[in-house]
Amino acid sequence: MSRRRRIYEGKAKVLFEGPEPGTLIQYFKDDATAYNNQKHGTISGKGVLNNRISEYLMTKLMEMGVPTHFVRRVNMREQLVQEVEIIPIEVVVRNLAAGSFSQRFGIPEGTPLPRSIVEYYYKSDDLNDPLICEEHITAFGWAAPQDLDDMMSLSLRVNDYLSGLFLGAGLKLIDFKLEFGRIYNEHGEMRIILADEISPDNCRLWDVKTNEKLDKDRFRRDMGDVIEAYQEVARRLGILPELQQAEAKSDAPDAAGRVKA
Ligand code: UDP
Repeated sequence: MSRRRRIYEGKAKVLFEGPEPGTLIQYFKDDATAYNNQKHGTISGKGVLNNRISEYLMTKLMEMGVPTHFVRRVNMREQLVQEVEIIPIEVVVRNLAAGSFSQRFGIPEGTPLPRSIVEYYYKSDDLNDPLICEEHITAFGWAAPQDLDDMMSLSLRVNDYLSGLFLGAGLKLIDFKLEFGRIYNEHGEMRIILADEISPDNCRLWDVKTNEKLDKDRFRRDMGDVIEAYQEVARRLGILPELQQAEAKSDAPDAAGRVKA
């Protein structure tokens, strides 16, 4: 048994130090939380699916020229990523009304929006991730105006690309959340890149024909068949068969970072 240094533990993932400076290992847990930690649960197999789904989507985005922290998947539950200085803002892009947006504006879920809407939330469990606007972000120095421009244009590119990709898989991309980070090159020049993950944990995905929910709302709202929904997303993206094969010979370390000797 060996133990790696744990850099950070979040609700659904753990970050360990990576094999080289400037890299991290992102470990996907089966844990799920909702409503700012008020609801907890374990969805057996979720971590494996999200690791693979996020790898697939990040790789596709990188092929489209969107810079991301993803380097490569290393096993069933882990991926190698670039270490970034995380920007404490959640960027939410919405195409149709749902969730907190529907509640805030009294618009029924599933109503198409006049155009895609980008919102910012301040990452703070203590404050319950409040909705914020550009003024707060620049005044408090969470990001510079140029950083915000970059985050906004990258988010809209991600939305355009993923909306099309999911539509091709019979899924409507209702909304999703992105996180960004800063990396610096050897000359000290900074670049903003996409970080975190993209998976049914942070996207709303509805079946095009039936509007069936195939995302974390099934957990949030106690709808059942959560893992089946995540599997269905993977299946429609064409990445489930290889997953099942690999699962049989998984040798991933556990969440405590223990690896077989
Ligand atoms: N989201 C997320 N993490 C959060 C809050 C929201 O990944 O802490 C995602 C969520 O899955 C959805 C989108 O962002 O795809 C918009 O969520 P919303 O603001 O409607 O909040 P919710 O209804 O989930 O509380």
